[in-house]
This record gives sequence, structure tokens and C-alpha cells, in this order.
Amino acid sequence: AKHAGRGRAMYYETLMDDDRDERREMEEALRAAVARGEIDVVFQPIVGARSRTICGVEALARWSRGGTKPVPPDVFIPLAEATGIIDTLGPLVLKRACAAVRNWPGIDISINVSPAQFRNPYFPDQALGIIAEAGIAPSRVTLEITEGYFIQNPGRAKLVMDRLKAGGVRIALDDFGAGFSSIGYLIRFGFDRMKIDRSLTIAGEQSPKGGAMLQATVALAASFDMPVTAEGVETAEQAAFLHLCGCDQLQGYFFGKPMSERAISDLLAPPADV
Ligand code: C2E
Ligand code: CA
Ligand code: CA
Ligand code: CA
Repeated sequence: AKHAGRGRAMYYETLMDDDRDERREMEEALRAAVARGEIDVVFQPIVGARSRTICGVEALARWSRGGTKPVPPDVFIPLAEATGIIDTLGPLVLKRACAAVRNWPGIDISINVSPAQFRNPYFPDQALGIIAEAGIAPSRVTLEITEGYFIQNPGRAKLVMDRLKAGGVRIALDDFGAGFSSIGYLIRFGFDRMKIDRSLTIAGEQSPKGGAMLQATVALAASFDMPVTAEGVETAEQAAFLHLCGCDQLQGYFFGKPMSERAISDLLAPPADV
């Protein structure tokens, strides 16, 4: 039995070494891809809850390892954050997104920002510089950030946020309702918008309590002048209920999946029938 135990321990050690090697390889592949600009950006439509027409898009990063194997952002973004690659990847996505939205008058652009970027003292000037260089009004740009860093380091987070807001960009609180969100605490920071996580969108239609929670969250945000975007909207019923609750913008597969820059351009100015 003792022998078997040792064997198992060795097996796991080898497994962990393999994991570490695999991680290392992925890190190097990602680093190289980012250096070569081989990161794609796709855009998901955001629609007005009443008009149901597109008013903005969220930029989402895509990476195909070796040009063929798509790696989910939930895998490569945390890796980029842990390795510092995000300091190159983040600005790359921001540049691409700003360049794209230049061709889409009247459309706003949302871009995800990692806490790791927010922590970088150069981030506000760098981000504002990229937006200025692209020649788009900063007010068309919303940076989306999750609550974690605001709870971890509120003083520092508030400073970075104020610097960005002074430069004219907007800041949205992303994934609200997914973690340990305390709306009472978070509301003080002065976010320009709240994005309700898909899990809350789903909870809203699953039970009367979920519905009440959704309604109360949107109402509280509204009473602090925070408009609300609902994420992960997949059905007409969800869309109707979220509109009723007071969300002014909706996003989800029901309205459109993330798509190429070209596809968004076609959506906005459909090619003439031949
Ligand atoms: P997120 O910011 O919450 O983005 C929304 C995610 O939900 C996207 O996943 C989107 O494709 C997905 N989604 C949208 N509508 C629906 C729906 O109706 N149903 C379902 N099931 N899913 C929907 P994606 O593209 O896989 O991105 C995952 C996460 O990776 C993002 O979550 C964001 O946190 C992160 N991410 C993606 N691109 C970037 C980036 O450029 N920078 C940073 N820092 N993070 C990024
Ligand atoms: Ca987001
Ligand atoms: Ca989100
Ligand atoms: Ca998310």
C-alpha cells in the first residue's frame, strides 16, 4: 500500500510538470502571437432596449493558436494577466477597436480592461493617448472593468478611474451580480454604467425571487443615475422582462453574437442587393 501511495504521488508530480510545461508553451505561443499582432477582435452588438437597434458594440479578443486552434478568452486572458502579456495585448485590442469604430458613426465602443492593466500607473495616459491618436471622441469609449480591483484597492482604483473620466472616457462596472457584488459599496465610485451579468439575467426569469432581485438591482442603479445594460440575453422573454425592469441597453445572442468588423459594417450599412 505504501508503495502504491508513492507511485501515485510520483504520477501526480509528473502530471503537474506536464501541466507546467504545457502552460509555459502556451505562454510563449501567446507572447509570440501578440508580438506579431495575431490577435483578432470581434464585436458584439448592443441594442437600445426600446428601439432594438444597435447603439454600440463590445470588443472581444480572439486568439487562434497556430492560426487554427481557437483558445477561449477565459483561458488566454487570465494567462495574459498572470504573465504581463496583457500590457501588450490590452493596447492592441484598444487600438483595433478604436480603428474599427471610426467607420461606424453614432456607434459607441466598449472595451474590456483587466485589473492588471488598471494597476499599471501608465495605463490612463496610454489609453487616452491611443483614443486621441485614433481620432475618436473619448465619450464614445466605455472601458469595462469588474469589481474585484475596486474592492481590493479602492483608493488606487478610484484615482485611475477619475483620471480616465477626466479624459472623457466612460467606465462601466462589468459582470455585476456574478461575484460578491455589494451594490451599496460599489455605487460610491461613480461608474457611468452597470452591466448585469448573464447569471442574473437568467436568475431573473427563473423564479419570482430572481425577478425581484433583478428589478431591485436595476432600480437601485437607476436611482444613482447608473444606466444598466443586461448581458447574455438569449430569448424574447428575457428581453421584454429586462426592458420592463428598466435596463436601457441589451446584449446577447438574441440580438447578435460577436462578429467580425466586416459583419458589423454590413449590419450598419447593408450591401445593396444586386
Ligand atoms: P465579458 O466581458 O463578460 O464578455 C461577455 C461574454 O459573454 C463574451 O464571451 C460573449 O461572447 C459572451 N456572450 C455574449 N452574449 C451571450 C449570450 O447571449 N449567451 C452566452 N452564453 N454568452 C454570451 P467571450 O468572448 O468568450 O469572453 C469571455 C471573457 O473574456 C469576457 O467576458 C471578458 O471578461 C474576457 N475578455 C474578452 N476579450 C477581452 C479583452 O480584450 N480584454 C480583457 N481584459 N478581457 C477580455
Ligand atoms: Ca465585458
Ligand atoms: Ca460581462
Ligand atoms: Ca465575464
